[in-house]
Amino acid sequence: MTNQEIANQVKELYEKIDKQTEKLAQTTGLKCPPGCGRCCENPDIETTPLEMLPIALELFQKKQFQELIEKADTVNWEGRCIFYEPDLFIAGNGRCSIYAFRPSVCRLFGFAAVKNKQGGAELAACRYHKEIMPEMVQKVKESIAGGLPVASFSEIAFQLSNIEPSLGNQRMPINQALKVAIQRVGLMAQWETGER
Ligand code: SF4
Ligand code: SF4
Repeated sequence: MTNQEIANQVKELYEKIDKQTEKLAQTTGLKCPPGCGRCCENPDIETTPLEMLPIALELFQKKQFQELIEKADTVNWEGRCIFYEPDLFIAGNGRCSIYAFRPSVCRLFGFAAVKNKQGGAELAACRYHKEIMPEMVQKVKESIAGGLPVASFSEIAFQLSNIEPSLGNQRMPINQALKVAIQRVGLMAQWETGER
């Protein structure tokens, strides 16, 4: 498969995830406060190079690779996601500069389930949701226990790894995953144009 074909499959899966999480939000009323970016501030977010392939390809096609490489020395690759733009005036708020391309963890977080000890689906609740709307979180948990359909982290991970196991099985910090995806896109492009 070409990088583009792989990225298309990843994006199709993203659309499915969005439908599932939107359904959960609509059915239960669970939502994030406007502008909240607390989850993006976590420096330990992990994903796979596969999931960063669509944005790496987009940057490559829009010829923004060079821009990224030029600012690479000033970027803290070990810290939080480089695509996060914090609100300078409101602590905890911020925006994702690649929203349409964000990986599955960013789509699922707070709105998807993990397996509990009994093997059932249990909401992996966001800590901030629990703090500001504990009753809502409890209601969502009860609805899921009662059979409300919910996206599953493990099922999505499985489906992603099936698209391209060599890229979809390696979990690593998000910026690192981006680097691997960029490297792959760059190398494949060189390969395709014969610049070896
Ligand atoms: S999932 Fe939690 S931390 Fe992330 S935006 Fe929503 S409320 Fe904020
Ligand atoms: S990709 Fe976007 S949503 Fe995900 S951590 Fe980075 S800034 Fe946040």
